[in-house]
Amino acid sequence: MAVEVWWSSLVAARHELVGLLDATERARVESLDRPADRGRSLLGAALLRVAAGSWLDVAPGDVVVDRTCADCGEPHGAPRILQPDAPWVSVSHSGVLAVVALCSDGPVGVDVQRVAELDDPADGSAWARREAAFKAGTAGPHAIAPNAVAPDAVEHELRSPLAGYAAALVAPAPAGEPVVVHWPPAAKRPSS
Ligand SMILES: [Zn+2]
Repeated sequence: MAVEVWWSSLVAARHELVGLLDATERARVESLDRPADRGRSLLGAALLRVAAGSWLDVAPGDVVVDRTCADCGEPHGAPRILQPDAPWVSVSHSGVLAVVALCSDGPVGVDVQRVAELDDPADGSAWARREAAFKAGTAGPHAIAPNAVAPDAVEHELRSPLAGYAAALVAPAPAGEPVVVHWPPAAKRPSS
């Protein structure tokens, strides 16, 4: 019974992270024209692997991620981790931030949104809550993710690590309050 939320920013999107990705993820990153889009795609995919690897106690590169789209079979669907005891996962990125949610108890949805990119910036938190609920399968046309039991879902407003962003999490109630992780961890100052 747990839910984790992992945050990172483009400052962490070093090129070496490409080494964590599988061929499908690398092709997705390379298909994008704008450097900022490539950075967000790289960071989101790498953060998912780092977080799921930590959860499963395997190396990030050994996490088995499937993005097969339920509608057309192309690898652009919501990510699933295929290993035994894998958590349900959700990924979002906007502006310079990426966020990943992992949950042991059922479908989870997370969303971050740079508020200035919305038509109505005052709508930021409502937007993030709608997107998170959609990804958790509790709202929208795909009522529930495949094979999922309808979760007793609750909304959590997330505090973004940067100003100017709205963020929300929807997770099954038994998972409780999210444990928040910032990646990479802040460098420790040498003690004097
Ligand atoms: Zn598709």
